[in-house]
Amino acid sequence: MRTHKIAVIPADGIGKEVIPAGVRVLQVLSECDGTFRFRFKTFPWGSDYYHKHGRMMPADGLDTLRRFDAIFFGAVGHPSIPDHITLWGLRIPICQGFDQYGNYRPARILPGITGPLRGRTGKDLDWIVVRENTEGEYSGVGGRVHRGLPGEVAMEVSVFTRDGVERIMRFAFGLARKRPRRLLTLVTKSNAQRHGMVLWDEIFAEVAREFPEVKTDRMLVDAVTTRMVLKPETLDVLVASNLHADILSDLAAALSGSLGIGPTANINPERTYPSMFEPIHGSAFDIMGKGIANPLGTFWTAVLMLEHLGEEAAAANLMKAIEQVTAAGKVLPRDLGGNASTEQVTDAVCAKIRKIGPKGR
Ligand code: ATP
Repeated sequence: MRTHKIAVIPADGIGKEVIPAGVRVLQVLSECDGTFRFRFKTFPWGSDYYHKHGRMMPADGLDTLRRFDAIFFGAVGHPSIPDHITLWGLRIPICQGFDQYGNYRPARILPGITGPLRGRTGKDLDWIVVRENTEGEYSGVGGRVHRGLPGEVAMEVSVFTRDGVERIMRFAFGLARKRPRRLLTLVTKSNAQRHGMVLWDEIFAEVAREFPEVKTDRMLVDAVTTRMVLKPETLDVLVASNLHADILSDLAAALSGSLGIGPTANINPERTYPSMFEPIHGSAFDIMGKGIANPLGTFWTAVLMLEHLGEEAAAANLMKAIEQVTAAGKVLPRDLGGNASTEQVTDAVCAKIRKIGPKGR
């Protein structure tokens, strides 16, 4: 039987609620399928760990994770710790340390969901936002001097390398090639940011020649936000820098119904290191502990993880189960207009998985 070793890091806030729900769903899937199984190991890293040990994960955390096939991650963030400490203590070191440069975030209005865009459905809004995940604005280069003095200086340097840009372009073109519409939109701000973003423009044009079957267009990041709202049907796959795609993918998730639905994959395409899968939302402390967090973003994230692990049939069955639950509209979490708890939504998806069965009936 195929065995997949999964490192589970629920971390903070509602991550501790939605990730166990995701593990449950994955277990039901593997039981129903019968040809593969999971070995889950949960790590108690995150803000609680920081309060006890003064760091978000152990110093040898990456060495521990390296042995797994994938990482199933919740969210980081705690009101008592500055966000830059939590983020740079756990999530970013994993993305950068494991060279997970290919971040992608599908966004689609699922059946039965009414998003904020009037009259729009999944036929109109069906995108993948591809995010460069290891450099750019979040490369961590910079510093602060003369702290507290009037002449204090802080520099946050965006670093774009030819290698880094070329590989994210190839990754994005590779995803766009597999989509029915085969359209890739390059999003930059190359009118104002005339060094790094112009490099993006140039390399995009170069790599496009390797993928003649993919249609391309280009937009500035400010303009693409209006296109996402007003003409969602004209977009398919978007590729953008670390910061720009971070923002656009939250917008994409909100436009598809809620931040609680969106999934994320952080991929090391060469498979030298494990890839990491996480819902798009953060720790959401306002609803933590209430049992009402929407687990669907985590379940869709599990679909991406299954695809990466080569379990395409199980991935398709899980996606089908999610869509059947949203289409029926009877068991929806609060952020999607229902009143079901995390547990009730999880039960409903598990019931659908069992009904669908291994052959995807
Ligand atoms: P972080 O700082 O870790 O990014 P945050 O609380 O600032 O977290 P998000 O968690 O991304 O931001 O979400 C913003 C708001 O959207 C939350 O406060 C919550 O009300 C809502 N939300 C996000 N995810 C979910 C979810 N899975 N289910 C229900 N509501 C959600």
